[in-house]
Amino acid sequence: MVRRTTKTRRQFIKFFATTSIGLSLGSSDPAEASPRKYGKLHDTTKCIGCKRCVSACKRWNKLKIDRDEELTDRETDLTGKSWVVVNLTRDKRNREDLHYQHWTCQHCIKPACAGVCPVKAIKKLPEGPVVIDEKKCIGCRYCYQACPYKVPRFDFEKRVTRKCTMCHDRIPRVKPACVTACPVGALDFGVKQEILTKARKRTEEVGGYLLGEHEAGGTDFLTILTTTPEDLGLVVAPKKVVNRDLDKLRITSYGFSGASLLTGLMYMYSRTEEEETEETEEKE
Ligand code: SF4
Ligand code: SF4
Ligand code: SF4
Repeated sequence: MVRRTTKTRRQFIKFFATTSIGLSLGSSDPAEASPRKYGKLHDTTKCIGCKRCVSACKRWNKLKIDRDEELTDRETDLTGKSWVVVNLTRDKRNREDLHYQHWTCQHCIKPACAGVCPVKAIKKLPEGPVVIDEKKCIGCRYCYQACPYKVPRFDFEKRVTRKCTMCHDRIPRVKPACVTACPVGALDFGVKQEILTKARKRTEEVGGYLLGEHEAGGTDFLTILTTTPEDLGLVVAPKKVVNRDLDKLRITSYGFSGASLLTGLMYMYSRTEEEETEETEEKE
């Protein structure tokens, strides 16, 4: 009986230590400059909406395949198991002008998601991809709140937040799975500066709009749209680094985590006390 109390105390100390270590890691980690940066490009004027990119992403990342999603034009949203979606966009000024858009993480140059993560689970790799370390992620979803596009989604089975990795586990040796699967060359991948030059030229040719050139301070995934995001009814991100509220969000996240921690500690302490009293009574 007494042994059970000791174990409970040990659990209590372990919980406290683990949680404190986790919380102490919560500072932002600015991206480092790299001479070899890569970028991904989607040209909506070439896309035929076949969704082979979606299947390829799921196969490469071992995500559950939803055949229905792949066979319809029904609007779909990102989830913890769908890291890329292909949806139709319609120009509000010209309802006949329809194009498919390959939508996924934008791999911001200065990612707001990484800045607010209280356990530093998100990193901007020097090559360009923004990745979540699932071993560190505690599923708090502050990255979702901070992201101007609400990209990172919670996986209810794995209990972590997940999103497109820009296939960091195969690039640059092999292009991302979605890019290699595209049958019409609507997706492209390469050295960022070359991708940017190509994208600007093509945007000019089609008289369109280059999404990601300035949004959120610039992103390493670019999309050639036929017109502005506003005209297409898309989410409009600010054209500057989304970091204004990072400190506020971090404070809020610490406040929330602190409150949760305190509640947890109080609950566990009260349980320990209760058990101790019960055991003493039993012994007597
Ligand atoms: S789009 Fe959102 S999830 Fe992706 S890097 Fe930018 S802030 Fe992070
Ligand atoms: S880059 Fe990789 S992880 Fe991202 S959408 Fe394409 S296949 Fe999926
Ligand atoms: S595979 Fe290419 S053409 Fe097909 S939906 Fe994806 S981006 Fe569009």
